Amino acid sequence: MFIIINSGSSSLKFKVFDNIEGKTTIAEGLAERIGVDGKVVIKYQGQSITAEIEMKNHEMAVKIILDQLLDLKIIKSYDEIKAIGSRVVHGGEEIKESVIIDEKVKDIIKKSVKLAPLHNPGALVAIQAFENIVPKVLQVASFDTSFHQTIAAEQYLYPVPNNWYEQHQVRKYGFHGISYQYICKYFAEINQKKPQDLNLVICHLGNGSSVCCVKNGKSFDTTMGFTPLDGLMMGTRSGSVDPSIIEYMIKETKQDASKITEMLNKQSGLLGVSEVSSDMRDITIAAEKGDKKAKIALEMYTQRVAQWIVQYLNNLDSKKIDGIIFTAGIGENSHVVRAKIIEKIKLIPLEIDDEKNIAPYSDFKKISKKGSSINIFAFRTDEEKMILNDIKKYTKN
Ligand code: ADP
Repeated sequence: MFIIINSGSSSLKFKVFDNIEGKTTIAEGLAERIGVDGKVVIKYQGQSITAEIEMKNHEMAVKIILDQLLDLKIIKSYDEIKAIGSRVVHGGEEIKESVIIDEKVKDIIKKSVKLAPLHNPGALVAIQAFENIVPKVLQVASFDTSFHQTIAAEQYLYPVPNNWYEQHQVRKYGFHGISYQYICKYFAEINQKKPQDLNLVICHLGNGSSVCCVKNGKSFDTTMGFTPLDGLMMGTRSGSVDPSIIEYMIKETKQDASKITEMLNKQSGLLGVSEVSSDMRDITIAAEKGDKKAKIALEMYTQRVAQWIVQYLNNLDSKKIDGIIFTAGIGENSHVVRAKIIEKIKLIPLEIDDEKNIAPYSDFKKISKKGSSINIFAFRTDEEKMILNDIKKYTKN
């Protein structure tokens, strides 16, 4: 049995798989409001159990989740746990692939806390908690940044004084790497291609959104940067804006830089522009009903994705492009958003097949017409399965 952990700043998602192939999810759940009060939801065998339990930190969350797995008889004893895989947001520049967690790796995660202050601390505490409770169990970490370690300096440097990078590690790191890796692996398998031959533009459009240009199987560039705030407009994040706005708004509103940055992270994007919601479902419904601000938000969101797709296609050899892929909550589910994005690409003759775009699907589907110059797909991503697959390298079972 394998446990996959995904720690947020105040939450901890988990999935329990019965084998390394990940065919069956035995249980999954979420501990949330960690550090506030605490709520745990566990889904298994078609039921959903909710418990309000105080959780002061991620360590308590891990203990409670393990207790619940025992209490609900999802596992009989800790001996059944063969390995634990954790998603870690930031691995800095040192980590280029998934790794077995040891003291050195924990130090690197710790060192990267200043680069990902909201996410890395929770992940580290959870990893340590598992180590305390089940010290003999193999723990593997998969990093959101590692897939992007192939990006060249021309792409990852910002045009700022060099010592910002050399002394302060200011560079593009990129995120959503586990999802991009999964899509590449899956796309290569389905199309019987060698991973190193893949040339794709992948749009991971969820609450957090980014685009990745995959050239010869490697991340060539991606829209998120030093932090996940850069690039596309998102649910509550602004994406790229003129950095001068920050100082201007500090002066205008007499708030400090961290407050303005928080507003760019939590009160901007779809939510900020529409004043309706950060959720794309609400935005599309409101826009359909004629809400002007929701319409503008939808147009802005789709325009920005279209522009990045064009820019990234330009990095690829036009004869070798395998496709444009939409994934994550919005990319997988919103035919309206997919159609709008493609409609906004004028430079290249792309054609969506409306019927295919709307049709239900399980894991993936092609949504372009035969005449489209590039194939377009919707793919369901699965970060937990990718992490499970990363564990496979280090275990026999
Ligand atoms: P994250 O993992 O970044 O929190 P998700 O990948 O779960 O985000 O995506 C969440 C987004 O997906 C939300 O904006 C939600 O509205 C959108 N979404 C989910 N289902 C649909 C749907 N059927 N139509 C449009 N948007 C959807």
